[in-house]
Parts: sequence; structure tokens; C-alpha cells
Amino acid sequence: MQMSFDQLGLSADLLRAVQELGYTSPTPIQQRAIPAVRDGRDLLAAAQTGTGKTAAFALPLLQRLAEEQPNPRGSRAPRLLVLVPTRELAAQVGESFNAFGRHLNQRTILIFGGVSPRPQIDALRQGVDIIVATPGRLLDHINERMVDLTKVRHLVLDEADRMLDMGFIRDIRRVLAALPPNRQNLLFSATFSEEIRTLAKGLLRDPLTIEVAPRNAPAELVEHRVHLVEQGEKRAVLSHLLREGATPQTLVFTRTKHGANRLAEQLEKDGIQCAAIHGNKSQNARTKALADFKDYKVQVLVATDIAARGLDITELPQVVNYELPHVPEDYVHRIGRTGRAGATGQALSLVSADEADRLRAIERVLGRKIKVLPLDRSGIRVQAERPAHAQAAQRPQAPHGQRNQRPPQHARQRGEGRRYR
Ligand code: AMP
Repeated sequence: MQMSFDQLGLSADLLRAVQELGYTSPTPIQQRAIPAVRDGRDLLAAAQTGTGKTAAFALPLLQRLAEEQPNPRGSRAPRLLVLVPTRELAAQVGESFNAFGRHLNQRTILIFGGVSPRPQIDALRQGVDIIVATPGRLLDHINERMVDLTKVRHLVLDEADRMLDMGFIRDIRRVLAALPPNRQNLLFSATFSEEIRTLAKGLLRDPLTIEVAPRNAPAELVEHRVHLVEQGEKRAVLSHLLREGATPQTLVFTRTKHGANRLAEQLEKDGIQCAAIHGNKSQNARTKALADFKDYKVQVLVATDIAARGLDITELPQVVNYELPHVPEDYVHRIGRTGRAGATGQALSLVSADEADRLRAIERVLGRKIKVLPLDRSGIRVQAERPAHAQAAQRPQAPHGQRNQRPPQHARQRGEGRRYR
């Protein structure tokens, strides 16, 4: 039976916010972390972005803040401090606190470097309950006595491994020294180096340890499949699958920019609404392509690995590897865009004979075999690379669009084409 948010002991105000945000059931990390953090336990969590980790700490901590004695109005002393590696993550986490806490009265302030400190100081003067900060700038405010950390009762280190990679350890230690000793501590990290373990050991008391997705382990909810196809028939196969599968959004990966463009053009010719995104496109063109994709104006986005980095598309139903990546870890990044936060996703790879070694390398990184599925070739039309008579239909015409009620548009326009076996 699927768990619901009301079983986690959250207050009515938080449950209402969760419902308004459209979350129906808690993700695995939320199921385990929320009750423990709500009860005041320390937490050590191995979890990456996409697992729902932010809500896993924000919801129970908001509840605790609401239950505790509030600060006097205008106090510059936060009760919750969240340290994050980057400005982008600070913004994201701050947004989550505001969204989940929309029916509560907790004030969140963001603090990060690279911008004027003035507005941050002004915001602090108006009072604060929660600070989400990058360590360096926070330290500046501490040194300038613009912020008082002596009332902090809950601390979160989010993406601790990245903070260490970015050289923040000394700043973190200085910030820790400014905190009172009695507090709840939560540490989130995607990886566990010796340095992280040392940090955790000095910080956490009898922590609940949760591991949702070990390093490089792609979301469990992704179904991986491979179709073995010849290079020359990949486009026809993809085109067919896209039309038959009726998936509203598919992200397709190619290895090269040129390949991305060409594939997008060809799919368009096949009647599939498509956009390409890669390094040679202007920022405007990329933003537009992404917006069109998110708004369902195009069904397919064709991307290269580099262009896809940092693409924020959650809960994408399907990722297709038109070509396998050179670097096996890129496979994990690619498919990390589907099956996020409790949604199921499909990762489909079209693999030609010359890519067999790459497939094996990917399976080694995943630690398991990927299912090779036979391809039903009825209905797949490969452009004439053979003499026409060799392509004459050998088998009865398969019903086009078994799942789609209507045959695809181009088939309707041109009539049924030749079948390839
Ligand atoms: P995070 O791992 O915290 O970066 O969250 C990844 C994405 O999942 C965010 O867009 C969240 O809004 C979304 N999310 C988090 N928890 C849930 C949930 N229980 N149900 C649906 N979406 C969620």
C-alpha cells in the first residue's frame, strides 16, 4: 500500500501546503527522515538531488520551529541554519522553505556571495527564523556581527560533499564554532569520502542513517531497456517508437551537436514536433527550446550531454539514448532526468553492434545487466537503402498505432509505407 503524508505526523498547516504543491505520497527518503527529524534526531543521509531530500528536512524542521518558542520580533538570531555549496541551491532550498511554510509564520533569508551584502543585512535587520547560506558570505556577516548564531537549534549541511570539494571546510568549521553546542544536526551528502565521515563523526550524535541512492546508482524507479538496432535504422526505429509509444515528453541524447541537429530535422520530417539543444545554439534558442518542451509544445527534445547538464526537467517520462555516451558515467547523468522523486521513468537505448563495448562499460558502472528487448519491426520504415523489391512487405501489415487510436499523421498522409524486416 502506498504511504501518505498524513502518516508522518506532520501538522495540518504543513499537510495543506504539501497537498497544494501536488505531492501525493512521500518519497522513500521522506518516509524515513520526516518522523525521525520531527522527533529531534540527528540524521546522516546519502541522497542526491531528485530524491526529494529538501522536503525530507524542510518539512519536519518547519514543524519543529512552529512548535518551539518563537524569536522576539526582529531578532537577528535564526533558529535554523542550512549551509549549502552554491547560490543556486540556496535559492532552491529557500523556495522550498517558503513553499512548505506558506501557512506558517517563519521568515527565511538567503545569504550568498557574489552580490552586494547590503540587501542581506537589511533583511537580517527585519528578523529571521531560517537562514539558508553559503559558508563564506555567512562568515563575513558573522565577522561583521550582522547575524547572531547563538540561538541556532537545528543545523543542516546540504550537499556536504560539494561544499568540501569547493574548499569550504575551514569556513564550515568556523561557522560551527559560532553555534551553540546543543542542537539537532542533519548532514546530506551524495558521496562519503573520509573527509565527510570525519565531519559527520564530529557533528552528529547517534544519527539515523539513510541511504537512498548510492553513488552513481541511478534512480531505482527507472526501467532500463536496450533495443539492438543497426546504425542505419536507428532513426526509423526511434521515429516509430515515438509515434507508437505516445509518450508526451521524451529527451533524446546524441553524441554530437551535428547529430542532434540532423536527428531533430529528420524527426520533424517524420511529423514529430521536435527541438534541439546544444552548445552551438544561442542561449535564447536554448531557453526557448526548453520552454517549448516543458510546455508540451514539442514532444521531443534532442540534446547533447553538455547541453543537457543542469537541465531542470523533473519527472520526465522517458529518456532515449540515440547513441551511447563515450563516458559510461554520462549514462547515469542522462537517465537521472527520468524517474525522479517517486515518478517512474523509462530509459531506452538504441544500441548498434559497434557500441557493444560501451554498453558493457555502462553495465559495469550500474553494477547490473540491462534488459535487451526484442523489437517488433512491423511498422518500422527505413528509408530506401535497399532495392525497393527487397523491402516489399513480407508479413501482413501490423495495425499501426495499437496504443494510439489514430495512425500517425504522416502515415495517414502518405498511406502505409513499405515494411522493413
Ligand atoms: P529534491 O531532491 O529535494 O531536489 O527534489 C526534487 C524534486 O522533486 C523537486 O522538484 C520537488 O518539488 C519534487 N518532490 C519532492 N518530494 C516530492 C513528492 N513527495 N512528490 C512529488 N514530487 C516531489
